Amino acid sequence: MGIFEDLYIKMRDGIYKVGDKTGKLLNISKIKIEMAEKKNLIFEKYKLIGKYVYDMYNNDEKFEFEDIMDWLEEIKNLKLSMKECERRLHRAQDKLFCSYCNHKNESDAIFCGKCGKRISFSGNKEKSNDPENSESSEEVENEKENNAE
Ligand SMILES: [Zn+2]
Repeated sequence: MGIFEDLYIKMRDGIYKVGDKTGKLLNISKIKIEMAEKKNLIFEKYKLIGKYVYDMYNNDEKFEFEDIMDWLEEIKNLKLSMKECERRLHRAQDKLFCSYCNHKNESDAIFCGKCGKRISFSGNKEKSNDPENSESSEEVENEKENNAE
């Protein structure tokens, strides 16, 4: 209990900014882990399909796309959600832009690599860039990309 009370007091006293930064970094790591997991799942499906097709060949059986349609659909959906993860990752990483000089910093940077100011995650950039509009147009463009594939 003592630790939490101590933490609460620190947060209340304004050290919460560090917590906010950590939260953003955790978010980025979480998305990266999610993407790695999805990538693994896609490879698992590829392996299943490969094994299935080989067995068909080996047993001299006739191969139909219908037989592996479930796996194919799953891969397609996983790839789509990978794209969504990428978008979320880019959005999370956009928050790493320095609010003073707009320099893009590494995800673990505490001070801006260009102007040396402490990186603030208060979201100044969001306000100036009107994310509602830019985000939705980006969304639309990505949908077009997906459809074109
Ligand atoms: Zn800067």
